[in-house]
Amino acid sequence: MGYAELHHQSLVDRDTYWAEQARRIDWHTPFTRVCNHDNPPFTRWFEGGTTNLCHNAVDRHVATRGEQNALVWVSTEVGIEKAYSFRELQAEVMTMAAILQAQGVQQGDRVLIYMPMIPEAVFAMLACTRIGAIHSVVFGGFASVSLAQRIEDAQPTLVVSADAGSRSGKVVAYKPLLDEALRLSAHKVPKVLLVDRGLAPMPRTEGRDVDYAPLREQHQGAQVPVVWLESTAISYTIYTSGTTGRPKGVQRDTGGYAVALAASMEQIFLGKPGETYFSTSDIGWVVGHSYIVYGPLIHGMATILYEGLPTRGLNGEPDPAIWWRLVEKYKVTAMFSAPTAVRVLKKQDPAALKQHDLSSLRALFLAGEPLDEPTGRWIADALGVPIIDNYWQTESGWPILTIANGVERKESRFGSPGIPMPGYDVKLLDEQTGEALTQPNQKGVLVIEGPLPPGFMQTVWRDDARFVNTYWKSVPGKMVYSTFDWGIRDADGYYFILGRTDDVINVAGHRLGTREIEESLSSHAAVAEVAVVGVADTLKGQVAMAFVVLKDPGLAATPAGALALEGELMKVVDTQLGAVARPARVRFVTALPKTRSGKTLRRVIQALCEGRDAGDLSTVEDPGAVQQIRELFSAG
Ligand code: ATP
Ligand code: MG
Repeated sequence: MGYAELHHQSLVDRDTYWAEQARRIDWHTPFTRVCNHDNPPFTRWFEGGTTNLCHNAVDRHVATRGEQNALVWVSTEVGIEKAYSFRELQAEVMTMAAILQAQGVQQGDRVLIYMPMIPEAVFAMLACTRIGAIHSVVFGGFASVSLAQRIEDAQPTLVVSADAGSRSGKVVAYKPLLDEALRLSAHKVPKVLLVDRGLAPMPRTEGRDVDYAPLREQHQGAQVPVVWLESTAISYTIYTSGTTGRPKGVQRDTGGYAVALAASMEQIFLGKPGETYFSTSDIGWVVGHSYIVYGPLIHGMATILYEGLPTRGLNGEPDPAIWWRLVEKYKVTAMFSAPTAVRVLKKQDPAALKQHDLSSLRALFLAGEPLDEPTGRWIADALGVPIIDNYWQTESGWPILTIANGVERKESRFGSPGIPMPGYDVKLLDEQTGEALTQPNQKGVLVIEGPLPPGFMQTVWRDDARFVNTYWKSVPGKMVYSTFDWGIRDADGYYFILGRTDDVINVAGHRLGTREIEESLSSHAAVAEVAVVGVADTLKGQVAMAFVVLKDPGLAATPAGALALEGELMKVVDTQLGAVARPARVRFVTALPKTRSGKTLRRVIQALCEGRDAGDLSTVEDPGAVQQIRELFSAG
């Protein structure tokens, strides 16, 4: 079956399509109904069936590939490389599950995981799904206020944490941050399980805090059976990145998620059982959940868990090729990263990439933010493998738009993440009228018609009303899921993402997408990165304000140099988009405020420009970037 036909079937004969896909995983009890959409916008997948994520990720592979690598931990922070076979992983997960149970964790309880990228974090996630506890992983390195909010929302029975993480060889103590968060939270956490890596001192609170190492000794060899869960049982919650405001607690099911991931591993990510998968994400993000932990393991692949920077070697030495060294060593066949990481590598010599044998690699998958064409071309040339952009959200759990090369080979197009994946009924709607846009190259809001496919969020954790009101009510008179992203579709059906719907500015009655202005500025050879925001203006309503990171900061070192370059950049926008889109100012900075996952925080930049309170800054990667903008604006 060709891809177009397959996608069509997934929409018009939904139950047949997904029942077929459901055979990719083990079911303890078969489901009796494929898709229940009786109560829209809520969707329930594979009702009546019971299964378990941990069983599908670990146990079912022990018989067939027990001695093969399952989890490969590589830390260039502490110089450790360690592999666990499926059999060893199963033993560690059962030990962890026994510890959790002994500490009082029961089915349906929440376990909050605040951990660096160490194997125990993965053991904890799998131990939770094994016993039906709901995990909520919070990105390690979030400061106390963000962590406290998430503790209050999740109301965990237990928190799993560690003494410290490490970044670029610098120890980041977690325990003081956790203790402060636990103090701030109105919800009082009964138990805290601590992994001591020996990196930072770790004060314990008597009666609440327990150490993992002695408990692991005590429970080693424990046999903890899998708990068979309803397909619709909650597997985990995870928060969106908070780029646009208060993060949403995404709630995911069990059976639908397992099926969607299993299908995506073959159809999209081109993986085969027994091979090695390498995602450079973090378990604190959705990519880490789906494509470091569950996806590869469910598919019987080894997965690399990487702690460290893309530019440091195992002994702390500078090594811009460390990732490619790992690709060669472990014969990685599929690799997943983000444009932001590629931009870091882009500053290095591309020759470093060519030193390694990358012949095992089928493709590099990139997601999380728009992949600009220069970055896409650079990495494609450097690696010599296809670069597959994929567009999705924390909410979706797996790609919405990309190319399913595992079903049928199809060209990627630079600038486009691709076409809708199976089960996704994607439409572009006119923002004003809510009508579906049917002509090519019309710009609209990217929406998904219900029922949402398996793996997609069930609801907002403990807040059905927020789920309905946030996502399903943005188009008057229509109940569709809004992604809050702008898109266009070309004549061949390829989609292009034009930015977020709230990144639109209104200049003297003209509505402009900030992404389009950014793209235009990026086309200038001197520009490395750029962010454009709309700033309140008494005369025009809003004006565009551009912040540019130069490839060579020296170009704007003198006031005359900066002024000349500013004029040049404005001219670029004038010619490409018209004078109406020209930024009021182009300011030069050495870094942009970003989330820890590499997303530009335009709302923060905007608030700083308007002299407003920038809100919670604890998720900002580089406080220096905020400071630069603040200084520019206090200086006038
Ligand atoms: P919040 O919803 O809390 O504001 P967020 O939207 O940044 O945060 P995520 O779920 O991590 O949180 O990000 C999803 C968004 O990232 C998408 O809606 C889109 O704007 C952007 N995105 C992801 N992948 C791509 C891609 N391949 N191309 C363009 N944009 C992408
Ligand atoms: Mg979002």
